[in-house]
Amino acid sequence: MIIELERGRQATLDQIRDLAVRFGNRVELSEGTGVYDTVHIIGDSREFASRESYILGLPGVRAAWQPTGGYKNIARVVRGNEGKALHRERRVVEVKGLDGKARRFGGGKHIFVCGPDSPQTLEQTLATARMAREVGEKFGILDRVMLRGGAFKPRTRPTDWRGLGMKGIAIMDAAREETGLPYVTEVMDQNLVEQIGAHADMLQIGTRNAQNFDLLEAVGRFGKPAILKRGFGNEAEEWFYSAEYIANQGNLDIVLCERGMKTLYTKGGYCRNQPDLNACTFARKQTILPIIFDPSHVAGDHRIVAENLMAACGHLVDGSITETVHTEAWRREQLCDAGQALVMDQYSILVEAVLEYETHVAPKMK
Ligand code: PEP
Repeated sequence: MIIELERGRQATLDQIRDLAVRFGNRVELSEGTGVYDTVHIIGDSREFASRESYILGLPGVRAAWQPTGGYKNIARVVRGNEGKALHRERRVVEVKGLDGKARRFGGGKHIFVCGPDSPQTLEQTLATARMAREVGEKFGILDRVMLRGGAFKPRTRPTDWRGLGMKGIAIMDAAREETGLPYVTEVMDQNLVEQIGAHADMLQIGTRNAQNFDLLEAVGRFGKPAILKRGFGNEAEEWFYSAEYIANQGNLDIVLCERGMKTLYTKGGYCRNQPDLNACTFARKQTILPIIFDPSHVAGDHRIVAENLMAACGHLVDGSITETVHTEAWRREQLCDAGQALVMDQYSILVEAVLEYETHVAPKMK
């Protein structure tokens, strides 16, 4: 069940929480940008919903909904049983850095996630992270920059390099320590969520695990913000159901990420994956979650990363996650996805272009 509650009604919120606990449910508050917040009753809420008239009588409650769809906690529009529709506010997902600043996905400004595909050495990762910080300072957007780096790598071929594991996480920790920038890293195993999550500021679920339901639920229970990549063979709605697996465990801090699909067209070799940009627009319409774009895995080639990201900006994404390296020479040293990483100098130009677009073009399209 979802309840619309006037902001600041703490006593009512406590009463709702008490009732939820009685029926074995939990409560998650989603702050809106207007006067009302939405209160989510997590888990099977049918018994809770049988007390609808009591709930509607509580001070500050405007409406209560028992949605019927397959992704009730994250749906943008939920319909009650009588067909009434509630249009919910989009959610802002915050990731705080050691610098004390929150990166706000869905807060109206593009969030720039960048860094190595995978931390290989301390020097390489620190050099890239320092340059990411410099880009943030140069454009006055430090609170919109964060790092990426997958220490546990899902590889198609078992003989390929699979990352440094926890040693890689220690390198990402060092990069955060030095720059203050928070980082996101991939988790592939439900048994490692707590171990990796104790370090990372945000967890990433990759395309190959987008329907690993035990992993999704473990990330949901853990509660830290998460990026959910779209499975490269998943329909948009299947992607939303995956997000609901996380949300249904009480974690609504989910950022959807479109990273391209495998299609017949990609066989020709001119791009690695086919970007489904209309899915970004669809996700905005269908869910309350922020949506970002990964131009690196779409392109597979650093020469066409910028074009892809600019195209996604036209679809009003809330941010991007881009693979970057500090030097051209280092790109060749990369053991994973070497061809698609942008050198930081080129990334800086791309950031400037996105900011120009955001300031001068996007407002006219809204
Ligand atoms: C990644 O971002 O490092 C990654 C492996 O992405 P994807 O799951 O989209 O392939």
